[in-house]
Amino acid sequence: MNETSHTPIEKIPEIHSKLKATFRTRRTISIPWRQQQLLLVARMVQDNKDLFAEALFKDVGKPAMEAYSYEISPILERVIIAATNLPEWAKPEHKTDLFDPHQRAWSPKVYFVPKGVALVIVPWNFPLILAIQPLVAAISAGCCCAVKASEIAPHTGRLLAELVPKYLDTEAYQVILGAVPETTKILELKWDHIFYTGNGHVGRIVSAAAAKHLTPLTLELGGKSPVILDPSYDLDVAAYRIMYGKVTNCGQICVAPDYLIVPTNGNHDLLNKVVEAFRRAYASFFSDAPPLESTSYARIVSKNHFDRLNTLLARTDGTTVLGGQVDAKRLKIEPTVVIGIQPDDALMESELFGPILPIIEVGTFEDACELVSQRDHPLVLYAFTQSEDTKTTIRECTTSGNLVYNDTFIQLAIAELPFGGVGESGHGRQGGRYSFESFSYLRASIDMPLGSEQFLTVRYPPYTSENLKL
Ligand code: NAD
Repeated sequence: MNETSHTPIEKIPEIHSKLKATFRTRRTISIPWRQQQLLLVARMVQDNKDLFAEALFKDVGKPAMEAYSYEISPILERVIIAATNLPEWAKPEHKTDLFDPHQRAWSPKVYFVPKGVALVIVPWNFPLILAIQPLVAAISAGCCCAVKASEIAPHTGRLLAELVPKYLDTEAYQVILGAVPETTKILELKWDHIFYTGNGHVGRIVSAAAAKHLTPLTLELGGKSPVILDPSYDLDVAAYRIMYGKVTNCGQICVAPDYLIVPTNGNHDLLNKVVEAFRRAYASFFSDAPPLESTSYARIVSKNHFDRLNTLLARTDGTTVLGGQVDAKRLKIEPTVVIGIQPDDALMESELFGPILPIIEVGTFEDACELVSQRDHPLVLYAFTQSEDTKTTIRECTTSGNLVYNDTFIQLAIAELPFGGVGESGHGRQGGRYSFESFSYLRASIDMPLGSEQFLTVRYPPYTSENLKL
């Protein structure tokens, strides 16, 4: 991104003040108004879908099929879900299930109130949907919102900055372009909610800035999402489904399967069978062209990330059994499977965020769960098994943001499930109603009837036995 496409730093406080002033007019609170803005988001994405697909290709080499399937179409679906359900979501809740039934007369209610002016900070790996999905949530909740696009996906960021003002109310919704200096300035300001998606290092910077203003925040972070593979599962199906999660967007997905644990009970032959299954999946996925040439395979986003991944491959003590070729000019890395990995291997240090799959062999499922539990809580835990007992063991013995049996990545297709991390993989939830709730706060309310006074006099001083009717 060149300098001219950054939002001038001195303009940032002005944008913030404008959004605050708009929120005070309360016009973003009307449900029909929110629905209209939501549908305009869908219109913007629909009208410009090819431009967005082109920008995503320029930013990450995202194949068109991935751009339409995982960024463009889900936005349309999410807008429809929000616009349709909004009247129901926003309805005040009348509390009738009270411990003391007499309190029903007080009309206890819970209102879902917009938090105010929200800030959304976007990463580069899904730079469209991860900008629009929280924006849709902010609009649904009745908030005003500034979206800080990722400077590492500049084409998508610039397109958003150009199109949002053409479709949405610019006094209520703004896109800010920039990198660390701009984001640092943005974070000095007092927002009413911050929704950050990105790595945990910056997550800590954002949290510290939010703490200064006691601003609530949602942290959508990453981490190493493990896969536990029961070797008695259909290994070809498992290899296809794991490889799918690893090659989509070239493994640059927060929920990509990061590493694979195979409990073999010392039977190494099982591991060979797993590797053979990966070979077959690989051959099938790249039957038209090898991965470095394939138009069905994205690239690594930047030279920094390309170098980071190559350094890890150079440092691992494991053995590469599949892939391993790279093309530095085009920032391409083949899907690469590495075996003989110990828990302290270089490939196990941090989230890989690339197409490398280390495999760790352990004895039992309990050992696999122990390995997962000793590390930071992952965003997702994947497990391939047909055994209900094993599913239960894995669920009860581990902690993760989400839990998926027998597939990878596809859980995000269910827009109504609460998605998010736990501990080091973040906190807060998004998805359908959960997104709406993230940008709302619950305002409890009662309305004491005048006629209840006869029952209330007992609380007033003096606390004499006569007054207390003892
Ligand atoms: P990134 O480098 O684009 O950074 C994210 C945002 O932080 C950007 O807008 C950037 O401008 C801002 N930023 C960077 N440095 C900053 C600083 N010093 N101060 C303030 N702001 C700063 O994206 P990334 O972090 O590389 O994204 C990848 C990470 O995001 C991975 O860890 C991935 O797992 C995680 N992720 C999580 C989810 C989720 O939903 N949980 C989704 C996608 C990505």
